[in-house]
This record gives sequence, structure tokens and C-alpha cells, in this order.
Amino acid sequence: MNIVSNATPLILIVEDEPHIAQVLEGYLKRDGYRTEVALDGERALELHRAAKPDLVLLDVQLPKLDGLEVLKRIRAVASTPVIMVTAMAEDLDKLLGLRLGADDYVVKPFSPLEVVARVRAVLRRTAQQPVVTVVRVGELEIDPVGMVASVGGSRLDLTLTEFKLLETLCRHTNRTFTRTELLEVAVPDSEALERVVDAHLANLRKKLERSGLPNLLETVRGVGYRVWVN
Ligand code: CA
Repeated sequence: MNIVSNATPLILIVEDEPHIAQVLEGYLKRDGYRTEVALDGERALELHRAAKPDLVLLDVQLPKLDGLEVLKRIRAVASTPVIMVTAMAEDLDKLLGLRLGADDYVVKPFSPLEVVARVRAVLRRTAQQPVVTVVRVGELEIDPVGMVASVGGSRLDLTLTEFKLLETLCRHTNRTFTRTELLEVAVPDSEALERVVDAHLANLRKKLERSGLPNLLETVRGVGYRVWVN
């Protein structure tokens, strides 16, 4: 991401359903963002390369290359913030299991206003991140933008989680981290995990409704869920 640019943020919308892309474009533009639209995964990568968007809204189910592959390829070259858009809770589980490094997740059907709010939040969060610098500890070199760690020039084969743990420990040498702190580093998206629960409970509620129990599951605002019996 271009950290010196003050220009209006450019959002790349990757969505194969033109109607949904159009709606998102309309709402984002109304909120002052610039937009580009890619209708398939290959075009998404082309536009990511050419237009250098500040954020990518990335649908999972796409023709040519699916969203997971697109995310993987973006992550191989850049740290552009990515919000994944998934049609199903199952996709979300898979995404979280893969830990490919998306910055947020939206489950379809979504409200366009909610998507715009997420875009704003992710841009704010990523803008606040300190300027990323290469970390060196002796022979070990860690490049947080390329997400590459190497020793004496040869690349270490690390998972994303291993990379984050190593980066954190090396960025703050001589400091002892508790396991809880390291868990937070390795699994920062607890909000996304909460949304997995929401998605599962929404599905469960639909099934209960179909069986004539529309009000069994209660949402307790700001807390969670309960089955309340008088
Ligand atoms: Ca799709």
C-alpha cells in the first residue's frame, strides 16, 4: 500500500455477479471511495497489479480463479487489505482454517451499508499500523511486506502463523511474551471467529424455524445467544 498517498482510497471490487458489484460500487462511491470492478479472479489479479488498490473486496466463489487463490496470490506479493465475501458459513470456516491472511470477512447476503462500514474500519485499522520495516536479528532477516523470512539469504519455509510469531518475537528482542500474548499474535481475528458462530447460529435458527420453533434461539444484544424458558 502506498503509505504516502493522501488520495481518495481505491477499492477493488471482485464480484462475478454484476448486479451485486454495481450495488457495492454505488454505495462505496457515495461514501467517497474510488472503485474498480473485476468480474473474475484473473482480472482481479491484473487490476491489483495495475491499479494498486488500497483495499480489495473479494468474493470467494469466482470464475477462472476462486477468491482463495486470488487472496493467496495477492498475499505472495503485497499486504493490501482484503475483505473476503463468502456466500456460506462453510466457506468462512474454510477461510479461517486456512488463515490466508484476510483482514475481515463478510457473509452474504450482506447489507451494503455494513460492507461500507467494514471497508472504512479496515482502512482505518491498516492506516494506523506503524510503518513496516525489515527486521534483522543476526543472520535472520524478516520482511513483513513480502512476508518472507530468510537466514543468510535463503528463505525459510514458514506458515503464516509461524511467520507472525517469529516476526513479533524478533521485533521486540529481549522481551518475554506470554503464551496468551502469542496466541493473540497468531490468532488476531477473534471478531471473525465470533462471526463464524453468528453464521452457524443463523443457519440453526432457520432450521428451527422450519420445524416450527422460530423463537427458540434468542440473541442477547452485545453478549451472545440463549434459549430462554419461562
Ligand atoms: Ca460469486
